[in-house]
Amino acid sequence: MRPFCPTCHTEVRETDYFCFNCGKNLKAKPLSTSLQAEILYYAASIFLPPLGFWWGVKYLRQHDPVSKRIGIVSMLLTVIATIITFAWGVRVMNSVSSQVNEQMNLIQGF
Ligand SMILES: [Zn+2]
Repeated sequence: MRPFCPTCHTEVRETDYFCFNCGKNLKAKPLSTSLQAEILYYAASIFLPPLGFWWGVKYLRQHDPVSKRIGIVSMLLTVIATIITFAWGVRVMNSVSSQVNEQMNLIQGF
């Protein structure tokens, strides 16, 4: 028995990714779990925290253990990167405000 498109009921081939008639995605392409993709996602998690979190959710929804692991690691990296960015931001703010205070004290000393 040949498969049919669930949207427009056109007969499609089993190898088709998209219905040629209505363009419906017939097979959700599996997310890449290659080492290269893994490294890319981890790097993105560190440097682009909100995106990393979104990707993490996407990977966690997959059913194979490799994708789940990538999702978990990616989310952890996102959380760590966010904490580091926040801590660094607080430090910069503190150093700026202490410099401003010094300047103010100098001005007031005159
Ligand atoms: Zn269709």
